[in-house]
Amino acid sequence: LMQTTEYDTIAAISTPPGEGAISIVRMSGEESLEVATKIFKGKNLQDVQSHTINYGHIVDPETNEEIDEVMVSVMRAPKTFTREDIIEINCHGGIVPTNKILQLLLQNGARLAEPGEFTKRAFLHGRIDLTQAESVMDLIRAKTDRSMQIALGQLDGNLSQLIKNLRQDILDVLAQVEVNIDYPEYDDVETLTTRLLKEKAQEVKARIEELLKTAGQGKIMRDGLATAIVGRPNVGKSSLLNYLLHEDKAIVTDVAGTTRDVIEEYVNIRDVPLKLIDTAGIHETQDKVEKIGVERSRRAIGQADLVMILLNASEPLTVEDRQLLELTKDKKRLVILNKTDLPQKIEMAEVKQIVAAEELLSTSVLKNDGLDELEERIAKMFFNGIENSQTTVMLTNSRHIALLHQAKDSLQAVLDGIEAGMPVDLCQIDMTNAWDVLGEITGDSYQDELLDQLFSQFCLGK
Ligand code: GDP
Ligand code: ZN
Repeated sequence: LMQTTEYDTIAAISTPPGEGAISIVRMSGEESLEVATKIFKGKNLQDVQSHTINYGHIVDPETNEEIDEVMVSVMRAPKTFTREDIIEINCHGGIVPTNKILQLLLQNGARLAEPGEFTKRAFLHGRIDLTQAESVMDLIRAKTDRSMQIALGQLDGNLSQLIKNLRQDILDVLAQVEVNIDYPEYDDVETLTTRLLKEKAQEVKARIEELLKTAGQGKIMRDGLATAIVGRPNVGKSSLLNYLLHEDKAIVTDVAGTTRDVIEEYVNIRDVPLKLIDTAGIHETQDKVEKIGVERSRRAIGQADLVMILLNASEPLTVEDRQLLELTKDKKRLVILNKTDLPQKIEMAEVKQIVAAEELLSTSVLKNDGLDELEERIAKMFFNGIENSQTTVMLTNSRHIALLHQAKDSLQAVLDGIEAGMPVDLCQIDMTNAWDVLGEITGDSYQDELLDQLFSQFCLGK
């Protein structure tokens, strides 16, 4: 492994791969200006003012070959994202010139940036805190306008501020406890401090619990609502999938923007991001006899946050239908009676016995009937109750969620300790623990491995 100094000069392509109108190659570090000057023909970049855009050409200094016509942004430290000198080369976007420019930078003194390394530097230089760094990541992955807003909110520091307030409250009470312990000669000190600790632990714990309630929704906004479409062969699964994918709403995304080989299908239904599970199974078997069924469905259902079960309304219920209904009875589900354009043979009385009215709806995918209602139901199911909470913080990040659970446990330990009559200085340890754990969220107390692991989840060039 190559040894690298912490703040050497790094470079990467920071626009997504593919043929865009322009691409940006970005470089950060002490030698950025020097490196760029070696391959740039135009004004002397070392003389230009900070935060200017400069027209010129990229030229291979060895062969004198002209690579591309470019605009070069020069941003000097410290007023930059990383708080280091940053150069951004806007070039014409073809893969070949963009890669060539990156290569030239690497040959002339820069090192290839690791994934997330630009953002990591911004963090290490105090430009942003950890929740903000993570929201950069969330923004890159945002699936809908709403998840974009949540990420932007965190970028503004909403969550950080909330966590900082909680920590300050804990710190205040810890200080108070210290003072009280230092003056044991006063009467009732033990009782007073215990009461204080108890009150604060309860209060902070309640606020954490409030925050944790947003976690399920937040995760869905970020990762998408895992949705399985199931039903026996020929009920209309592929037709429904095509409808969902075709309404101009389909986004095909690579997972987390990092691994290029895992493709998942997303659709936005009225701002609910659905992550469709096992659509390969549905695509594959189209026009063939489906090698069902229940086993594959069972797996998809297991992973799903929402199951859409299709039944054929023009046929009587089958054993398989009943199995699927049984399998999903504890799940969030929509039971869709399809093919309502044909004469109805399904036993409605039986269906209504096993399926709650609010889970049930009818469609004809063929005739485009009932599909608006379907979308409406999906949106209702998931925005009910959070409509009014737009302004509050929503937890989208599993690391934050895990740490908040830990903090909550520590606070519970404080309360249990007090209940059991433990001495104040022992309860104080758990309280301090909660303070530490909360600090990990914002990065006020962090470990190196955590940072490496966290920032390596970013895309290259971020
Ligand atoms: P899958 O096997 O569950 O994926 O079902 P498909 O989507 O492949 O549909 C099977 C057949 O049913 C196709 O010929 C569709 O055109 C047809 N179909 C789908 N939805 C409807 C509907 O609402 N009404 C009618 N009459 N036919 C439908
Ligand atoms: Zn099919």
